[in-house]
Amino acid sequence: MSGAERADLVVTGGDVLTVDEAGTVVGDGAVAVRDGVIAAVGPAADIAARYASAEVLDAGGCLVLPGLINAHTHLAMAVFRGRADDVDLQGFLAEVIAAEVALLSPEMVAAGVECAVAESVRSGVTAALDMYWFHETAADVAARTGFRLLTGPTFMDIDGPPDGLDFAARLEWAGADLAGGRPYVMAHSTYTLDPGQLREVAALARKHDAVLHIHAAENAGEVDMVAARYGRRPVELLDDLGLLGPGTVLAHAVHLTDAEIDALARTGTAIAHCPVSNLKLAAGVARVPDLLAAGVPVGLGTDGAVSSNTLDMFTALRTAAIVHKGFSGDPTVVDARQAVQMATIGSARAVGMGDRLGSLEVGKQADLIVVDLNAPHLLPRHDPWSTLAYAATAADVRDTVVAGRILMRDRHLTTLDESELATRLQRVTTA
Ligand SMILES: [Zn+2]
Repeated sequence: MSGAERADLVVTGGDVLTVDEAGTVVGDGAVAVRDGVIAAVGPAADIAARYASAEVLDAGGCLVLPGLINAHTHLAMAVFRGRADDVDLQGFLAEVIAAEVALLSPEMVAAGVECAVAESVRSGVTAALDMYWFHETAADVAARTGFRLLTGPTFMDIDGPPDGLDFAARLEWAGADLAGGRPYVMAHSTYTLDPGQLREVAALARKHDAVLHIHAAENAGEVDMVAARYGRRPVELLDDLGLLGPGTVLAHAVHLTDAEIDALARTGTAIAHCPVSNLKLAAGVARVPDLLAAGVPVGLGTDGAVSSNTLDMFTALRTAAIVHKGFSGDPTVVDARQAVQMATIGSARAVGMGDRLGSLEVGKQADLIVVDLNAPHLLPRHDPWSTLAYAATAADVRDTVVAGRILMRDRHLTTLDESELATRLQRVTTA
């Protein structure tokens, strides 16, 4: 590091998988970071000649790639992990909503999010689109720990909501929150909000130019219930109500007709694909090859830690890369590169951050991870896309960087004390 230009951090010596449009991999490459932003990507020798940096991460023998982006989760639900296994969506909701109404508090959300951030950072996740109660508390934890949390007020019209706000009060509270600059609105679903409420939430999102995130068409029972109630399937209903569009992200979207896929493509609506949650809740397998063929933006998510039990995006990535092959009988669908793209740039585009996140390119946020390839299960090193999609695990992530700040170095978290997590979770869940 002898150059004339200042960098705050240089990650050097690894193969840099940029996930740019051309799929560029820079062998023995480096990434220079200044003011939280990527200043340069190129051969390690060139970066060393150009930059002087106080902080250097030696990534020799490693892969450097964009941080994984969890396009659909409920981080605080880590507190309920293992509470609703081996049930379908409706059984899951009956169990979980009752627990939330009875137990949930900001303190509980803080403990759950801390645990979830630790788990996420350990598994190479640098950002998450997070839908849950008490999102301000979650945002505080994220700010304190350096994690990139994409969140906003949640709308779900249930009896006795944990925060005690009825729909009218919630609209007012959410309006103030969005006016403060938060760019996301979370609407739970077409079965927990009626069409009038959905219209009001959508109008609120549009007024503040916010991304609207909603669960839709997760399982057959939900589709039947909504169709019986309104005469329209969930995605048809959202289309009728004007909720589809480039600023909308649907979680799951498992049960889609050809016409609904056309509607998503026509409106530019994005999908957060959650294959592990969909398999565990026996919801089905989303038509991802058809969605990709139609040009629908598809990102990847884990869902919360009750429905998928971990927030491990490597497992989600691998599942996405294999489940559609088995389901369709076609081994070419969702190939390794497409799966890695889905977890990075695909998720970034889905959540409305494609211009700032998801690839290692100059001007983008310096959210990146270093995956240690010095392990028998990752040898030999012939194709990084294949390694990531089919062989790597969350435990292979060595370093995690968000906005140029190192949140995990040599597998040690720098902004969170993990020794306290178990005690804190124990306290909030038994109080
Ligand atoms: Zn969900």
